[in-house]
Amino acid sequence: MPEQSNPELPPLPYDYDALEPHISEQVVTWHHDTHHQGYVNGLASAEETLAENRESGDHDGTAGALGDVTHNGCGHYLHTLFWENMHTDGGGEPDGELRDRIEEDFGSYEGWKGEFEAAASAASGWALLVYDPVAKQLRNVAVDKHDQGALWGSHPVLALDVWEHSYYYDYGPDRDEFVDAFFEVVNWDSVAKEYDKVVSRVEG
Ligand code: MN
Repeated sequence: MPEQSNPELPPLPYDYDALEPHISEQVVTWHHDTHHQGYVNGLASAEETLAENRESGDHDGTAGALGDVTHNGCGHYLHTLFWENMHTDGGGEPDGELRDRIEEDFGSYEGWKGEFEAAASAASGWALLVYDPVAKQLRNVAVDKHDQGALWGSHPVLALDVWEHSYYYDYGPDRDEFVDAFFEVVNWDSVAKEYDKVVSRVEG
């Protein structure tokens, strides 16, 4: 997740065609340069409105701007994680401590994957694997838009964007085919890194 105070579009961590043939260069280009950039801009603009309104004391538009912060902020954070969650040499299955934790919390890797795919199939936004710091366990979460259905305090470690802009150009209405393609490029090393970061903070 981005560790920065000012919203800024991070460069893609690979070339635009790195995820071919699973995700096309065209989709990655539109998705990163137009859609993700749009959330970054929307967050910056909402922050500006809030700062102006605090200064002037005129709170016309404040409630809308607060909604814009969560929508665009979550859009920005989740897209940043989504790009990191993929790699040209991705695919396969997780191993090490992350694998053990998935098996502990979901019964098996297959048990986790079936549930995650069901979330990806149903969500109008994102399927997420998150670490819940209250229950101290991994959970799958189905999110509508970018911020509806969030589990407060949870830390996403794997994000799959199932907005239509994510797959329609490549796969048409066959979202499940796109989900299979995602698993061909998923970067388990980045997921494990994110998992280690949050678990060491919460569990010591
Ligand atoms: Mn998206």
